[in-house]
Amino acid sequence: MYDVKGSSMYDVKGNIRQVLSALPEGVQLVAISKYHPNEYIEAAYEEGQRIFGESHEQELRQKHASLPADIRWHFIGHLQTNKVKYIAPYVSMIEAVDSLKLLQEIEKQAAKNNRVIDVLLELHIAEEETKYGLSEQALYELMEQGEWCQMQHVRICGLMMMASYVEDEEQIRAEFRTARRLFDEVKRRWMADCDYFCERSWGMSHDWHIAISEGSTMVRIGTTIFGPRVY
Ligand SMILES: *Cc1c(COP(=O)(O)O)cnc(C)c1O
Repeated sequence: MYDVKGSSMYDVKGNIRQVLSALPEGVQLVAISKYHPNEYIEAAYEEGQRIFGESHEQELRQKHASLPADIRWHFIGHLQTNKVKYIAPYVSMIEAVDSLKLLQEIEKQAAKNNRVIDVLLELHIAEEETKYGLSEQALYELMEQGEWCQMQHVRICGLMMMASYVEDEEQIRAEFRTARRLFDEVKRRWMADCDYFCERSWGMSHDWHIAISEGSTMVRIGTTIFGPRVY
């Protein structure tokens, strides 16, 4: 649908304009800028985009230091506990929290910086083998354990997940529906009184249209906007 070949600056602007105009109200775009240069981020910024997502601490550190201060940075990758202290002073949201240990470290570092950090809990639903993400059972155990409730510097704002990278649209849709069911269950059992628990971060370049039709509130789109990543 979107031509991302030859990812010149012109294309970044055109691509993000198309994505933004296609988003329904209430759905936020996290522009995933990992591996892309500052110039591309600036082009998107000039189109009004303020939320960007990165998955490596050092790359994020450099970009944060050299790009406009009103950018809200989301950390979207797997985060090692020993890296939390580096991003805690400025990160806007940590999207992929999948253990109590990581949550505890974010609480500790956020407290040191005298701020509250928004986080999402990462689900593991896709069929793909990955070490990351909480199973349904692990999610409920984390919530039931209740320590999160005492944390003064962490706000659990919702859930995030990645669907399987497959052609089968029905499978992708089914995974988004499972994620939605888990969201509703957590909301009902533990978060009914927390207005801020409202984010469902699913949908990437190849499946964001499906994600939106299944109730996503936050899409994380990289390739469609910035073109292929050069690693
Ligand atoms: C890289 C990445 C994305 C963006 O992927 P695209 O296919 O380029 O849109 C979204 N979410 C996470 C967690 C990622 O690591």
